[in-house]
Amino acid sequence: MLPTSTLIKKYNVAGPRYTSYPTALLLAPVSDLKGVETAIELAVEPGKDISIYIHLPFCRSLCWYCGCNKVITRKSSDADTYLDYLEKDFALAARRLPEGHRVTQLHLGGGTPTFLSPEQLMRLSLKLQEYFNFDPHAECSVEMDPRYVTNAQVQVLRGIGFNRASIGVQDLNPEVQQAIHRIQPFEQNRDVTRWLRKAGFKSVNMDLIYGLPMQTPERFANTIEQILSLRPERLAVYNYAHMPKLFPAQKLIEDDTLPKPDEKLEMLQFAIERLTKAGYVYIGMDHFALPGDELARARQDGTLQRNFQGYSTRAGTDTWAFGVSAISQIGPVMTQRHKDLDTYYEALDRGELPVTKMYRLTNDDAIRRDVIMQLMCGQKLVWSEVDRQYGIDSRAYFSREMERLHELVADGLVSRDSKGVNVTEAGRLFVRNIAMVFDAYLPENIEQRSYSRTV
Ligand code: SF4
Repeated sequence: MLPTSTLIKKYNVAGPRYTSYPTALLLAPVSDLKGVETAIELAVEPGKDISIYIHLPFCRSLCWYCGCNKVITRKSSDADTYLDYLEKDFALAARRLPEGHRVTQLHLGGGTPTFLSPEQLMRLSLKLQEYFNFDPHAECSVEMDPRYVTNAQVQVLRGIGFNRASIGVQDLNPEVQQAIHRIQPFEQNRDVTRWLRKAGFKSVNMDLIYGLPMQTPERFANTIEQILSLRPERLAVYNYAHMPKLFPAQKLIEDDTLPKPDEKLEMLQFAIERLTKAGYVYIGMDHFALPGDELARARQDGTLQRNFQGYSTRAGTDTWAFGVSAISQIGPVMTQRHKDLDTYYEALDRGELPVTKMYRLTNDDAIRRDVIMQLMCGQKLVWSEVDRQYGIDSRAYFSREMERLHELVADGLVSRDSKGVNVTEAGRLFVRNIAMVFDAYLPENIEQRSYSRTV
């Protein structure tokens, strides 16, 4: 068995994160909106539970590492206008919702959802209640920026049913924070965590990033130790992907301030070892959770899924997404809304579905999506399940892929037997590389430079 550091060097190639399969790069511009409407209507399954994602794009200041779709503004009235249009978006969707639908999951992402004032959050909640039927046990989560969130917002969010929060921390070292243009001392993170716990939030997630400018293994280790003192239920430790051609904000970061690959490797290894030692369950890729958290339980009981937010609970739902750039996944139909505010508003003013791109999965896509999600979430692939679901001989169907798995088997990342394929303990870190073997689009028509590195 090769040492982890050697494996990381070998398998650190560009690849998708498989928050969907096929990836969003396959979404193609829409010329016929009627066709999109029909495709959605045909894809809707009566009685199927739904997840709602709402993209709230506003941020008060620009973080230089940012790769999100955001709008920098300090004008609160921009959010009022956005809420007017979100309501139009909800109203258009409401006509197509599955009969007897039940919302079991809601996620507010951004941008910065807590850009919205307590009153604006209340207004959003009232509109959601008006158009959708929420399950009383729905998981409602919200991304927070501790630099700008107030206890009043936390109280309102809890009052309107939010029970899970995700806090962007990244790194606590002052020099790193200066280099990424995001000054956020430890105390701010601590105070928000206390408010959330006191208000009764069930789970707090914190996002960290390794590979940022001015970061060193010592500084990152120090960040992890401080964050562990707050004991968040979930932790995500992301690799910073420096792709200034794709994300213009990153041009503000000088290349020579970035840590070297070996230093990044050291940070990643430390994070995995330290968090595991601190009692966190390694969910896969870059996610960790305490054993009692719903994410760790979902991994146990097979209800873990990948969606556009990363690893999530409540598999088996369709995602109805609203707001600029948001991507919906309804049965085999993926659609994306307009990416900029003006175009999004103009489409809604015309009473049109504000969709700019679409992709409809083929039967082969659906089979591969299931296989990839089984590997990413359940860490195994059971041939008989694929055979039963799709009426195929999956061993024969994937014979080429099985040949391509040889090297990963030899390196101890997967094992095979007559029943299927299993991701080994060592393979969990490389689950993207394992999934890539089953991706039909990688070899030819996907530009590898559009992806971040797998580790
Ligand atoms: S990283 Fe988050 S808070 Fe910072 S600019 Fe991007 S979306 Fe806004």
